[in-house]
Amino acid sequence: MKCPVCGCESCQVLKSKGKKSKELLLQCEECGNIFRETVDLGKPTDCRVVVSEYERSHKDFIKIYPDEVLKVEDVLDLDGRPAEITSIENKKGARVNRSQVKDVETIWAHYIDVPARVGISVDFRGRILSRKVEVDREFEFTVGDIVKLENVLFKIKSMKTIERKMRKGFAKAWVVKRIYGTPIEGKIRYKYDLTSKMVGTEEKEEL
Ligand SMILES: [Zn+2]
Repeated sequence: MKCPVCGCESCQVLKSKGKKSKELLLQCEECGNIFRETVDLGKPTDCRVVVSEYERSHKDFIKIYPDEVLKVEDVLDLDGRPAEITSIENKKGARVNRSQVKDVETIWAHYIDVPARVGISVDFRGRILSRKVEVDREFEFTVGDIVKLENVLFKIKSMKTIERKMRKGFAKAWVVKRIYGTPIEGKIRYKYDLTSKMVGTEEKEEL
């Protein structure tokens, strides 16, 4: 972008429109001349995406313009399904939070149109009741919640999230991997019932 009057290369963008090619209205910062320029964004390129759904993942490709910038937490349209970017690997092999498409080697993403799958372990003095539930991704679990699961009432003692173990506070279901509970006796009012959210059958007992 060079001013046609004075040849200066620092210009301010006043207006920008278009998708495949951008039509810019520029003002020279040196002489104040206002001029138009069209920037070709090039053809969309195939960018590799590894997309996961629970424990499984598969490779896919998405067409994006090389000049576009991708960021972690951006949502992509993968064959009609929304997938959120969790990590970006650039061509130097580094994991970054943002990158221009032309420097991207692989995008890591997960589908966000599926419920969160959370493991539950309730400790009956060494005998562990283990279940899996599927809940809305935005559902919040809080340490201390009283929960009903079939004929058991338990209190959330701690939670294991993607990053750490929590002994207080709350977390959105999609970051929670497992909930640890202690059984509760007697008639206590529970906060929510997860019985209808159970999936699969009994999993391996873990201690
Ligand atoms: Zn100028």
